[in-house]
Amino acid sequence: MPELPEVETERQYLHRTSVGKSVMQVIVSEPRILKDTTPPALTVALLGHTIVDTGRHGKYLFAILENGASLIFHFGMTGGLAMFDDDYPWPPYTRFALLFSDTSHLTYHDPRKLGRVSFTTNWREWIRVKGLGPDALSVQFKAFREQLANRKGAIKPLLMNQEVIAGIGNLYADEILFQAGIHPRRAVGSLTIRDLQRIYTSMRTILRTAIRRRADEAAYPRTYLIHQRFPDGCCPKCGKLLEHLSMNGRTAYFCPDDQPYEA
Ligand SMILES: [Zn+2]
Repeated sequence: MPELPEVETERQYLHRTSVGKSVMQVIVSEPRILKDTTPPALTVALLGHTIVDTGRHGKYLFAILENGASLIFHFGMTGGLAMFDDDYPWPPYTRFALLFSDTSHLTYHDPRKLGRVSFTTNWREWIRVKGLGPDALSVQFKAFREQLANRKGAIKPLLMNQEVIAGIGNLYADEILFQAGIHPRRAVGSLTIRDLQRIYTSMRTILRTAIRRRADEAAYPRTYLIHQRFPDGCCPKCGKLLEHLSMNGRTAYFCPDDQPYEA
């Protein structure tokens, strides 16, 4: 499932390929992927407008128009963008496309149709109304600490809660806690300032590393847990068999030695 590094990689692609282009036609081949809008409403909102910038907050991507309005992408499990010149065949499972005045086409493909395309007249306000927490890549330590203060429960689900911190899902939450040496079930109230600093630093380092490597997991450092996240996987630091447990319906992988449990 795309998390912050995957969405940021899509944002950089969208920025490189779409900024400065004007929308000449809007094609919705699967209306079910639209959220809070309809094909005619979206067409009226986009037609003749120019993409002047891109933005991202957590796992949401914004194509910002010259009038301040914005098209919003959420990639679900399998969504992605691709730009084509002229009439090059679109990828299978294209659900939505924009044709630009220079004849290039931006397609949104999504085999499982779990992603969503929507629209807002003010994207910063949309983020606020949606109740998203600060973005995991840009949040300062002070705000990060405040977001976790007075919360209850285990650290891992809190890191994955988009209203607490936006952008982190199951894979990166495991990686962050592994690199920080914190057990996923550790109660947030028991974490010291030093623990929180370790988690914060690990979060930033991992997200930045992943974005630099264009979210290509195969290119991540060998010391990353992600390469061993399967039954019988071994800790990339100490070689011990990893353990896994189910939390909120998702599997958490961790090293029993490097991430000891402390209540
Ligand atoms: Zn280990």
